[in-house]
Amino acid sequence: MQLSPSQIPREVAAILTKIQKAGFEAWIVGGSVRDLLIGQKPKDWDLTTNASPEKIQEIFEKTFYTNEFGTVGVVNEETIEESLKVIQVTPYRLEGKYSDARRPDNVIFSQKIEDDLKRRDFTINALAYDPTSGKLLDLYDGIADIEAGTVRAVGDPNERFSEDALRILRGIRLAAELNFSIEEDTKKAMGECSQQLGKISKERIRDEFIGIINSSQPMQALVLANTLGILSYIVLEIGRGVGVEQNQAHSYDVFEHNLRALQHAADKKWPFEVRIAALFHDIGKPKTRRWSDEKHDWTFHGHDVVGAKITKKALEDLKFSRETIQTTEKLVRWHMFFSDPDKITLSAVRRIIRNVGPENIDSLIKLRMCDRIGTGRPKEQPFRFRKYQSMIEQALQDPITVSMLLINGERVMEVTREKPGPRLGWILHALLEEVLDDPAKNTKEYLQERAKDLAALSDPELQVLGQEGKERKNQEERDKIRDIRKKYFVE
Ligand code: ATP
Ligand code: MG
Repeated sequence: MQLSPSQIPREVAAILTKIQKAGFEAWIVGGSVRDLLIGQKPKDWDLTTNASPEKIQEIFEKTFYTNEFGTVGVVNEETIEESLKVIQVTPYRLEGKYSDARRPDNVIFSQKIEDDLKRRDFTINALAYDPTSGKLLDLYDGIADIEAGTVRAVGDPNERFSEDALRILRGIRLAAELNFSIEEDTKKAMGECSQQLGKISKERIRDEFIGIINSSQPMQALVLANTLGILSYIVLEIGRGVGVEQNQAHSYDVFEHNLRALQHAADKKWPFEVRIAALFHDIGKPKTRRWSDEKHDWTFHGHDVVGAKITKKALEDLKFSRETIQTTEKLVRWHMFFSDPDKITLSAVRRIIRNVGPENIDSLIKLRMCDRIGTGRPKEQPFRFRKYQSMIEQALQDPITVSMLLINGERVMEVTREKPGPRLGWILHALLEEVLDDPAKNTKEYLQERAKDLAALSDPELQVLGQEGKERKNQEERDKIRDIRKKYFVE
């Protein structure tokens, strides 16, 4: 494996030569060199030098000091390429002492590149390249590991993971992204040091978890994490599906089913929203699994409702954004959406879209495909999918939300004596309920007249109508949960 200076973007080469002309050493280092050798575009460029942070700042016009580790961001204003806008230059660092398995107690700069490579996590990340001299520094046989597809810790793996337990997840994530395997001693040490992950912040764990989910091999990674006892430090609930046998329609336990659904999304290169929903979609099953004498099989009543709640909690714990939490929760909640496309009505489809949100309907369909494949069943017959798709397309032309009604709050106030307040919302929602059943009613004239009738109703009457859809939904959920409780829980 070789590198040529022509692989290095002009902007990066310019920074290196500028530092070198000022009398210092400078290298491209870490993941950027790894990616170049593999033939992938590096996500970011990391440079390292024996110049101090102060010197680096002197050499370049526009810089900023990014963190307490001596990293200086060199700003490139002339590029549109995201990865080149800020290039990180970090002085050679020595591994400081770690007393908390998270962060070095203090940062010590060094004059030797060897020190800097020694502190890096994996051999494939401990490479340095200087395009000026053409030197590729490989002190830990990182190139051989790249060729063999191996993730191996630099030095003693137990020591390295005890210093910083996040490296365990970084290793699993890298293996999943690169489709590499993890060297045996490194793997063993990951398991032995897994408890140290308890000290790592949720945000850092979340970021590696996202990396795993977005990788090409998320299933393999999460199976390994489970085997090594690491999964519980990521999302405890996912592991609860291990060994939870399902009904006859399924070939796999709940854990494997969720993972296979996720892997299908990864194979299809579908976006993160679909992947995470696929991973969580049946997370409510372990809690809701009951034996039915009648059916001679397991049942999972309410697993969608329970699953949505578990999902919300798990993602909140991991400090996911509100947006991600809400979308995933909705997809899990409504993943059971379709019955037979020959039986479902258009108004039911419209309600599904209303529930999950028009912006998520495409993800919901993809999730459905993942669910099927994850079951071990063949792909849905194409004609059925075409039928779903065409029903959705048709339904999307009709009003699904209050904002799509041909009347708005202001107009309602004009034709009635209503004032801004909850009654106005109830009226609009009551109108939407009617229009969901019959889109032909979405005309200015009809809605105006209907708004007048509705305005004549008392608060309680109107509230019932306006919240009918929502209420109906909530009632269903309450019934489902009560049902489960009554039947199976002591309370
Ligand atoms: P990515 O492709 O996601 O950027 P990366 O390996 O480049 O992966 P970065 O977070 O960009 O990861 O870090 C750059 C380099 O810094 C790594 O390749 C590695 O050499 C080193 N590094 C990062 N985090 C750690 C860590 N926790 N312990 C030791 N070395 C680390
Ligand atoms: Mg990187």
